[in-house]
Amino acid sequence: MNTETVTRWMHACAESISEQRDYLTQLDAAIGDADHGANMTRGFTAVEAKLDGLEDGTTPGRALIQAGSTLVSTVGGASGPLWGSGMRRAGRALGDAETFEAPDLVSALDAALNGIVELGAAEPGDKTIVDALAPAVATLRERVDAGTPLPEAVADARAAAEEGMRATIPMQARKGRASYLGERSVGHQDPGATSTALILAALERTVAEES
Ligand code: ADP
Ligand code: MG
Repeated sequence: MNTETVTRWMHACAESISEQRDYLTQLDAAIGDADHGANMTRGFTAVEAKLDGLEDGTTPGRALIQAGSTLVSTVGGASGPLWGSGMRRAGRALGDAETFEAPDLVSALDAALNGIVELGAAEPGDKTIVDALAPAVATLRERVDAGTPLPEAVADARAAAEEGMRATIPMQARKGRASYLGERSVGHQDPGATSTALILAALERTVAEES
């Protein structure tokens, strides 16, 4: 995998998030302020523009750092700084290498998760991005360690993210805007966990196309 992999992943994210924009907004209307679809679409559209203008020779790590910085600077909602710092951490984890392999992808996604947890202080069960991303990273690591081919490992990680996303429905939010609702946040799927599952599904398609 290389810089092209990163840019194709970001384009795939932009495509599916903008397709699901209304759905993400509806989820956020129920337990937040109805801007999650707009926030994520604005962010990833800006990421696409940024990555299209990258200089030749930009490393994959650098491309992810640029993507993260773009999310931080273009998204007003909580999700921008959270996924933005996550992407920047992922980029830093890849270092200066021109290519990366499956174990590096595990390290990068793990670094993204750690960055999101450091910034947002959410624990599993708080009804956030973490509820989709943490099981995805754990599954990816387990499968890659076991020698599972990467497309299959990422498909399993995406499935774990979706399961984590659905598991947010009965949770009571303890972080972010939805936490203001207390018990009334129960019974709704978390918007951030939902867009996180889309980001993993975009990675699954990207990796499948490359192999
Ligand atoms: P805002 O809440 O500022 O309007 P968005 O609507 O774009 O921002 O994003 C809301 C999502 O952000 C929530 O559904 C949740 O998944 C995620 N989120 C909020 N706070 C945190 C946090 N502290 N840690 C992880 N994710 C969080
Ligand atoms: Mg919102």
